[in-house]
Amino acid sequence: MRSMLFGTNWKMNKTREEAKRYCQVLKTGLSEIDDSVTLFIIPPYTSIDILVSELKDTKIKLGVQNIYYEKSGPFTGEISALMAKDAGAQIIEIGHSDRRTLFNDTDEIIARKTRASIDNGLIPLICVGENEDIFNMKQSISYVRGQVAMSLSLLEKRIEQELWIAYEPLWAIGTKGKPASPDHIEDVHQGIREELYNALPGWNISKIPILYGGSVNRINADNILCRRNVNGLFIGRAADEPNQLLELIQLAGGNK
Ligand code: PGA
Repeated sequence: MRSMLFGTNWKMNKTREEAKRYCQVLKTGLSEIDDSVTLFIIPPYTSIDILVSELKDTKIKLGVQNIYYEKSGPFTGEISALMAKDAGAQIIEIGHSDRRTLFNDTDEIIARKTRASIDNGLIPLICVGENEDIFNMKQSISYVRGQVAMSLSLLEKRIEQELWIAYEPLWAIGTKGKPASPDHIEDVHQGIREELYNALPGWNISKIPILYGGSVNRINADNILCRRNVNGLFIGRAADEPNQLLELIQLAGGNK
């Protein structure tokens, strides 16, 4: 079976107690999941220590939803990549559409955060995606390729490290969103893959996973994941409960 990634970003949800309960239920289903599956969870900062201790005997990877790119200093409210690593994160989510639209994370800021993650040996999970106007103008691929190129513009071309990309069109995310069609996803992912070859010459680009996110659910997961250049799913609402996440993985072919 080819390797697949499944993960969820909890956004600004779940207390520490809720986080603990989620992990406890999730653990009960892990023995059913195939070894080819990489599972990751990105909780709010306040629960990361809970996940570190609850999931310590599992292979589930942990992330944080954001960092600031400086090493330290007077940046009230922020944490650095090193602090995220120190707290137990292996992944840094960068440029989720909430960050881009509500908190003004520009492509330049995203490039700096990507660099800071790599410099600290963490996996940047870079989120890209166009808005509805760009989609309607049929400019999705060139727009998203531009975002990918900008995000990677500060990386050392010769030093290869682990890096993940998530394609999450803005019009597909959240309660008002509708999932992108598998054909559209495949086309954009192909464009992303081509851009990665330009942006990171010398890297083994085929090893970089490209995930899709935006209204993924138990019904559409399988049809998206079977497409070329789709290496995983980044799930929001449909993974609110651990049993839903386990069921979705099973329906998408990730079970033993
Ligand atoms: P959703 O969220 O699955 O609830 O649409 C996706 C995301 O924001 O990553």
